[in-house]
Amino acid sequence: THFGFKKVATNDKQSLVRNVFNSVASKYDLMNDILSFGAHRLWKHYTIASSNVKIGNKVLDIAGGTGDLAIEFRKKVGDNGQVILSDINAIMLNEGRKNLTNKGIIGIEFVQLNAQYLPFNSNTFDCISIAFGLRNVTDKDQALKEMYRILKPGGCLLILEFSTTDSALLKKFYDFYSFNIMPKLGSIIADNEASYQYLAESIRKHPNQEDLKSMVLDAGFDFCEYNNLSYGIVALHKGVKI
Ligand code: SAM
Repeated sequence: THFGFKKVATNDKQSLVRNVFNSVASKYDLMNDILSFGAHRLWKHYTIASSNVKIGNKVLDIAGGTGDLAIEFRKKVGDNGQVILSDINAIMLNEGRKNLTNKGIIGIEFVQLNAQYLPFNSNTFDCISIAFGLRNVTDKDQALKEMYRILKPGGCLLILEFSTTDSALLKKFYDFYSFNIMPKLGSIIADNEASYQYLAESIRKHPNQEDLKSMVLDAGFDFCEYNNLSYGIVALHKGVKI
């Protein structure tokens, strides 16, 4: 246990993750804004700005949820480009569809898929993104290999994910915040304490910056660099296929 919270069993991780996102799907955007104090918007903005995506490109957003990244990529690729918003969870994808419709955004395709099995030909995409999603994938090595396979030579993978801060003071605050405050907020706003408990635990288990970089390289990527955001609370890894 961490700080008195029960550990969430992770033996059936896939179905646990499904339940987490089913139950919070409709409150998902609101919760992101509240829990990150709006910072997730900045992290995503930075991701898009780092992407090099151009007019006419093909982009796949994996674990795309309500489509924040897909919307921005859509603006970048123009009418001749292609953006696919994908997620393992049909309810989240549906929230994404509603969100896009609300915002009047057209021309994004939807595919329900598991990051471990990407139903596309090799060398298809100029850019693949996965924001706050890799943490939830059971076999991350397999997923990274699949991403490498379907990227075009010259294409790049962007992984935005919680990571490890090296500021001792921030770490103290962050531990208290995520293990004590976050699940309570989850309980009040989304009526789901366990999901936000899972969130805090999954963040701790996720590989740190250097370990994730090694995983990306081991999956076949020829080059990988990362940038810390918010003192390493989040990191953006960029993997390039030559
Ligand atoms: N990318 C969005 C964002 O940044 O707002 C959503 C992130 S949300 C925290 C994580 C998403 O990952 C959920 O929508 C969930 O359904 C999806 N997910 C979990 N496991 C997955 C898998 N194995 N393959 C694809 N998507 C997955």
